[in-house]
Amino acid sequence: MAKTTDGADGGNLKPETRLVVAGRDSAEFHGFVNPPVYHASTVLYPNAADLVAHRARYQYGRRGTPTSEALENTIRAIEGPLCAGVSLLPSGAAAISTALLSVVAAGDHILITDSVYRPTRVFADSILARLGVETTYYDPLVGGDIAGLIRGNTRAVFVEAPGSQSFEMQDVPAIAQAAHARGAVVLMDNTWATPLYFNAFAHGVDLSIQAGTKYIGGHSDIMFGTVSANAATWPKLKETVGTLGLCAGPDDIYLALRGLRTMAVRLERHQRAGLAVARWLQQRPQVLRVLHPALEDDPGHAIWKRDFKGASGLFSVILRPAPEKAVHALLDTLQLFGLGYSWGGYESLAIPFDCAPYRTATTWAPGGPALRLHIGLEDLGDLISDLERGFAAYARAL
Ligand SMILES: *Cc1c(COP(=O)(O)O)cnc(C)c1O
Repeated sequence: MAKTTDGADGGNLKPETRLVVAGRDSAEFHGFVNPPVYHASTVLYPNAADLVAHRARYQYGRRGTPTSEALENTIRAIEGPLCAGVSLLPSGAAAISTALLSVVAAGDHILITDSVYRPTRVFADSILARLGVETTYYDPLVGGDIAGLIRGNTRAVFVEAPGSQSFEMQDVPAIAQAAHARGAVVLMDNTWATPLYFNAFAHGVDLSIQAGTKYIGGHSDIMFGTVSANAATWPKLKETVGTLGLCAGPDDIYLALRGLRTMAVRLERHQRAGLAVARWLQQRPQVLRVLHPALEDDPGHAIWKRDFKGASGLFSVILRPAPEKAVHALLDTLQLFGLGYSWGGYESLAIPFDCAPYRTATTWAPGGPALRLHIGLEDLGDLISDLERGFAAYARAL
């Protein structure tokens, strides 16, 4: 049973198929479909000569096991041929900070979208600032005009599309072209679309980051992150991860691999139900706007349609001006939507949010209370009934 499929398809298989077949070598594991979970530190060598020469396929637990390799190879297979390597990290936040550390040095300047995941901003403003790296935040809608913000020492441009609360789309190819023209590296937080719905490398990204906690894991039971690198950025990324001594735990790696195998089918459902709820919300009199790039009237729709293959189940809704107690009545009435951070699991979630206090390059003034919804895998009719009850409580509290 030598049906290993890693890299054997010449790129002809669709990503959804690669997601299923890549990273598997049953012959290595007595025919079993999945690799075992290697809990490992020491690797024993057969003799002293091999030991001193580090001559072994696996050398040390932190440096990789058959379990971690299976996941890395699977992610690589869905990132496409421009992906040269994948690092597994203990959280999405760790993936972001490690990717940034792999490209900057003291005296460098970096550009980060104002719509970035907030902890990314905190990392730049604290640790990167302390290490002598200066950050400028830019308008997510800047497009090719980012060229005007690039300085002689600008080392990296960080993009995230769409913003995970405010949902601005970014013209990633135009930004990447301007960055590359000046020798800057492009990093992207691609957690929302995943490599299945946005091929980061084909659009000019050099380092693509996933909070694996979200759709890769898919079951709200792990903290996990990945960074995928192209040939130019992979050596430094690998060195940085290794030197910092970072690695993910074997059980989380296994759960990420298990989640990843069904990600395509889950995303399809998140997408369909998410769009249906978004359209339903657009018809509610209490709703001012729905922020979802797959909606035809969304300001980011043209870019989404041009560059993305799909939408996941996360979007935001802006309500007409209302007191906080009405918004809380809505949220507290929901039974199927849990109130909690994170997203990408099988369950629906809702949070209120406000980007205004920490934005620096742009003003967040949506015109009313903002809620973010994650649409899970529950029945669509049940979710809408839940929201209907929420809106009834909202109306009573106005
Ligand atoms: C959750 C999230 C992260 C961080 O992931 P953790 O695993 O929670 O550290 C990064 N980026 C985005 C867009 C996220 O939603």
